[in-house]
Amino acid sequence: MQGLSLRNVTLKVKNQKKKTVYEGFGELLFTHFGFSGPLVLSASACLQGFDKDKYSAIIDLKPALSEKQLDERILRDFGQNPNRDVQNVLGGLLPRLMIPVVLRRTDIPPETKVHDVTKGQRRRLVEELKTFRLEITGTRPVAEAIVTSGGVKLSEVNSTTMASKKCAGLYFAGEVLDIDGYTGGFNLQAAWATGAAAGRSAATKENEEHGKTNQRSH
Ligand SMILES: Cc1cc2nc3c(=O)[nH]c(=O)nc-3n(C[C@H](O)[C@H](O)[C@H](O)COP(=O)(O)OP(=O)(O)OC[C@H]3O[C@@H](n4cnc5c(N)ncnc54)[C@H](O)[C@@H]3O)c2cc1C
Repeated sequence: MQGLSLRNVTLKVKNQKKKTVYEGFGELLFTHFGFSGPLVLSASACLQGFDKDKYSAIIDLKPALSEKQLDERILRDFGQNPNRDVQNVLGGLLPRLMIPVVLRRTDIPPETKVHDVTKGQRRRLVEELKTFRLEITGTRPVAEAIVTSGGVKLSEVNSTTMASKKCAGLYFAGEVLDIDGYTGGFNLQAAWATGAAAGRSAATKENEEHGKTNQRSH
């Protein structure tokens, strides 16, 4: 499914104890290494325990439809094309690249005639479309990270001036701080806002120091 992008899907990530650690709606993308895209990048912020936990991604490919509505939709599509191969009828529901994958996962041979698809196979199809599951084996390396969590503790920084509370004359901004947000502009905003604040207060401090030196020399 490399290169395939899905829009308007729901992504849920559950940990080993089946607790939902992330849920979001939007866009994701299948890549040469696995999957990515805005939803996945946001989800990755919630997956910080790969050393002691396991995570599964569950994609709802049809979040606007309940299982019953989806089944009715499939029945309608099937009813209009009873003599065609099932693989040729799912195009209205699924992107072309996903059809063989979904059929394989539901054990429905692609050449099955639609009128031969059993109720059980149709139920599995609905289930697969509502809970397309992927086991997450890890994140990409830090060199490819969009943003890193961790850094200088916020409690050690004056949030108005961005000055260090521990070291006079030292200011922090952006990624070096222990602050990270979901993708979508929050990190750039944090870098610019803290950068502007740190720059202004460092310059003011510099001017004050300079002013004192000048006064002394007069
Ligand atoms: C591919 C990608 C996509 C992203 N997309 C988004 C997005 O859509 N929305 C969003 O909000 N955020 C996004 N981010 C995150 C965002 O870009 C960063 O959070 C933000 O740029 C951090 O700003 P910064 O100034 O702290 O650090 P940086 O932008 O990393 O700037 C640090 C600078 O310091 C320089 N530097 C490093 N070491 C030294 C040194 N020893 N001496 C001198 N200079 C040095 C570096 O070359 C660099 O220019 C993205 C990041 C990446 C990588």
